[in-house]
Amino acid sequence: YANRLKGSEKNVWVEFTKLASEPGVINLGEGFPYFQAPEHVVKSLQKAIGSGNKFVHQYTRPFGHPRLIKALSEVYSPLLKRPVDPMTEVLVSVGAFGSLFCIIQGMVNPGDEVIIIEPYFGCYEPMVRTAGGIPVFVPLRPSKHGVKMSSADWKLDPKELESKFSDKTKLIVVNTPNNPLGKVFVQSELEMVAELCKKYDVVCVADEVYEWMTYPGIEHIKIATLPGMWDRTITVGSAGKTFSVTGWKLGWSVAPENLLMGAKLVHQNCVYTCPTPIQEAVAEVLELEIDRRDSVDCYFKSLALELLPKREKLAQVFERLGMHPVVPEGGYFMLADISQMKVDLSDYNKDEPKDFKFAKWMIKEKKLAGIPPSAFYCSEHKHMGENYIRFCFIKEDETLKSAEDILRKWK
Ligand code: PMP
Ligand code: GLN
Repeated sequence: YANRLKGSEKNVWVEFTKLASEPGVINLGEGFPYFQAPEHVVKSLQKAIGSGNKFVHQYTRPFGHPRLIKALSEVYSPLLKRPVDPMTEVLVSVGAFGSLFCIIQGMVNPGDEVIIIEPYFGCYEPMVRTAGGIPVFVPLRPSKHGVKMSSADWKLDPKELESKFSDKTKLIVVNTPNNPLGKVFVQSELEMVAELCKKYDVVCVADEVYEWMTYPGIEHIKIATLPGMWDRTITVGSAGKTFSVTGWKLGWSVAPENLLMGAKLVHQNCVYTCPTPIQEAVAEVLELEIDRRDSVDCYFKSLALELLPKREKLAQVFERLGMHPVVPEGGYFMLADISQMKVDLSDYNKDEPKDFKFAKWMIKEKKLAGIPPSAFYCSEHKHMGENYIRFCFIKEDETLKSAEDILRKWK
């Protein structure tokens, strides 16, 4: 295979999805809902396919199905506080993954630098490298250790952040709410990033796939709404995450036309167009949510409320065990501190970070799967994630109860 792919062989999802599929393993690893997809979302797909509209089964407009881009424009215009032109300012992609790939491939020239905030959703790094770019990492640092924390306790050091910017910097990726921490960046943090983007002429890729999943009292702020930032931000979203149907693999980018140019060129030559029935169905659901936007039943609001007791429960269980949790402000992942857990890992690969060994041990010996967070750090910073395991809690209460039983019996 091509030289530019060398170094991207190891993939935590490929590895742990296989390990977690062993019979009897309770899987709190990969981030996907372990319950029936919402009924209204499933119905929208049934309606799309069964509508008798023969065009639903054929190719549609390459940059986004007309009904879907219109619905996305209706959802995002008020959120972005400006009219979003559906024809020029939206690109529909194969999941948020597809948007991220097309943006990075479409904008980064060899030698360009891309700032990535750690811990980060792992694909950013290989995407930058295969485009010939250079990832430059800056970690969120916890202000406490060895106690229960909030994801808000993890912060960027302003001086360290600025030191990463230079005339080589092309992009910065800001993922809020963040995976795996659950941190939701506050106004002052986003302002700091925005000022640097303007000072160094950098485009911000705002990965906001968990935009609707913030817990009571926490506000998700779109960096594109900060002064001067619409012109230099590409906002990325995901139908899979928004509607708990990760298998639909449909996402989008919203940005000014000039910023989407590169991504559209990559998309038109490697994907061309996304599946029409899925786009029709997502359009249908978005229209429904727009109509009940102010109701508590609107899925944009109800999902976080459904997740809240699961978050509380899991945090309690970890706390009781001395696996101090980092309680997330958004998203559906929780880090738990494993530094106090006395486990013999001497049989496991010495060259792997501790959390990889621990996660493998936990699957084998405890039949419980999580994800090792050092996968969300560059090679020099892996130690920063080594003392945690990431657990996903968008699961049925029964599944969480089984995990709890395993954890309770542990000590
Ligand atoms: N960004 C983040 C932060 C994620 O956690 C994920 C995981 N799904 C993605 C992007 C990719 O989303 P999709 O499944 O829509 O491709
Ligand atoms: N975003 C999900 C996670 O972090 C799914 C990862 C993936 O795309 N395989 O678990």
